[in-house]
Amino acid sequence: MLLSVKVHYHSYDAIIVGAGGAGLRAAIEVAGKVKTAVITKLYPTRSHTGAAQGGMCAALANVEEDYWEWHAFDTVKGSDYLGDQPAIDIMCKEAIDAVIDLEHFGMAFSRTADGHIDQRRFGGHTRNHGEAPVRRSCYAADRTGHMILQTLFQQCVARDVKFFNEFQVFDILFDDTSQQRKVVGVVAYELATGDLHVFATKAVLLATGGYGKMFKISSNAHTLTGDGPALLFQKSIPMQDIEFFQFHPTGIYGFGILLSEAARGEGGILRNVLGERFMDRVAPTVKDLAPRDMVSRAIHAEIVAGRGAGPEKDYVFLDLTHLPPEQIDSKLPDISDFARTYLGIEPKTQQIPIQPTAHYAMGGIPTNVDAEVLADETGATVLGLYAAGECACVSVHGANRLGTNSLLDIVVFGRRGGKKMAQYVLETDHPEITKDAHIPFQQRIDELKNANGQEKVAIIRAELQETMTKNASVVRTHDSLEEALGVIEDLSKRYLNISIDDKGNVFNYDLLEALELEHLLELARAMVVSAQARTESRGAHWRDDFPTRDDVNWMKHTLTTKKPDGTLRLAYKPVVGGKYPPMERKY
Ligand SMILES: Cc1cc2nc3c(=O)[nH]c(=O)nc-3n(C[C@H](O)[C@H](O)[C@H](O)COP(=O)(O)OP(=O)(O)OC[C@H]3O[C@@H](n4cnc5c(N)ncnc54)[C@H](O)[C@@H]3O)c2cc1C
Repeated sequence: MLLSVKVHYHSYDAIIVGAGGAGLRAAIEVAGKVKTAVITKLYPTRSHTGAAQGGMCAALANVEEDYWEWHAFDTVKGSDYLGDQPAIDIMCKEAIDAVIDLEHFGMAFSRTADGHIDQRRFGGHTRNHGEAPVRRSCYAADRTGHMILQTLFQQCVARDVKFFNEFQVFDILFDDTSQQRKVVGVVAYELATGDLHVFATKAVLLATGGYGKMFKISSNAHTLTGDGPALLFQKSIPMQDIEFFQFHPTGIYGFGILLSEAARGEGGILRNVLGERFMDRVAPTVKDLAPRDMVSRAIHAEIVAGRGAGPEKDYVFLDLTHLPPEQIDSKLPDISDFARTYLGIEPKTQQIPIQPTAHYAMGGIPTNVDAEVLADETGATVLGLYAAGECACVSVHGANRLGTNSLLDIVVFGRRGGKKMAQYVLETDHPEITKDAHIPFQQRIDELKNANGQEKVAIIRAELQETMTKNASVVRTHDSLEEALGVIEDLSKRYLNISIDDKGNVFNYDLLEALELEHLLELARAMVVSAQARTESRGAHWRDDFPTRDDVNWMKHTLTTKKPDGTLRLAYKPVVGGKYPPMERKY
């Protein structure tokens, strides 16, 4: 007997799951053309896009010479040659229009004295293929994502987009009767009431963001639990390049809260306990503005060499003390407040303790450049299913994303996905879905509410985060990954024996966190298994036991699929090249 629950039925042409930058940009494209709803577990303006600080890049050449081709070169090199060059070309070329679009939507960018959109330096962005750092990132102080999110949300409101706020999607429904799999609906849980909602729809675009909450030291919001990727993964859709996860060099020590790379773009310097500017040695040309994978490894190397600070010698410093105080106030107001609030440090006069923090998922749901989801390594698509933003892998970031390329990715591919979805919907019939489509999910809720196991969600999550940060972060080895895998497998068994305290229907976060934990466990296992198989070092995936890039054997994308029996299958597909042949990555 199922516990009684109210079920509501809806019918839409298109459903967008997620109201961050990618979801909202897609919604603008479909609004007014087809009957669309956006379902989001957070109120839209609370999405993690709003936490993005430093900027969004485009070769506008407002402050110095620049071309989209230089941007593309930097992105390919930054990706450690794992990015697909045709997709990168599209992103860098369309970047310019994407920024102008935002300006026309009313976005409040920081400006130059003569009124143009100002641009600042960011890691790995260079002039003329690596000569020197270039000013390519458009920004709004250190609140760029906040401004983008507000701007896009206002445009959605102006277009009468229908939002289901604080509704969490937990099942994606497919018609598997014909040869090509086809999406037909989603099942969502309403946070305020515990009611279930079944949405029949011709198309679904997932824009659910990242999964950085599988790590202990992380810049990510608590809500970034990989729901979209995990829901597809559970239904045998592969994850692409999931072993590649970015660690941002400058997280606040002990917390992981991000201090934007903009701090170094504005002239900030990294120093070890001896006061040395160690990036001089590692990247003589661009120094502190090397790409994130290299800077995070350089910090790790300083710590291993005993040149870290503090009682455990496990952090280094971000030094802004030489910058004019008025520059800190006008260009970096939020992050200087974070240093004051969380560490009691005044960044104008004191150096800030920092350590690498889990930041960004390069891998995710495989898509083509129109955000259509790929079913396998042959490139076959799933009808009506789209993904864009951090949950997707196009792949434009390859093994390492350059700073400011994600805010760009979400608007460029959100827009392309929205366009393609609107077109598809107009040519497709409405699906039939049965009245009991919600039953499997309802059974899952009942199981959790009725369970009286001894294990607690918060404890399992904390142990997962601990092992991922210890064993699967900036530096990995076969043995560290083996240890992580052992812990994850053990935690997954213990997860079967959890119980929750709140059995109610109203804002039951106890229940939701239990469901989200399953997503984190699944994706962590996929990450660790894929990372163990990749016996080379490339971008953010550094193997101390295989410390070189191996283009002969590993110039290929990983596709990790969960088989119906629960085991994982690893398949590979070639990287799509272009005009930039692989070369050694020096800066
Ligand atoms: C602190 C921080 C600073 C950053 N700074 C920069 C920067 O300066 N420049 C840059 O380029 N990148 C930056 N990034 C990265 C960038 O912000 C993100 O990659 C990007 O904003 C992700 O956008 P998104 O639309 O894909 O997802 P998000 O903005 O994370 O939105 C996800 C959406 O999905 C919804 N959702 C999730 N699961 C469900 C579910 N099951 N059901 C319903 N809804 C669901 C949520 O409610 C939310 O609306 C930063 C990231 C962080 C964490």
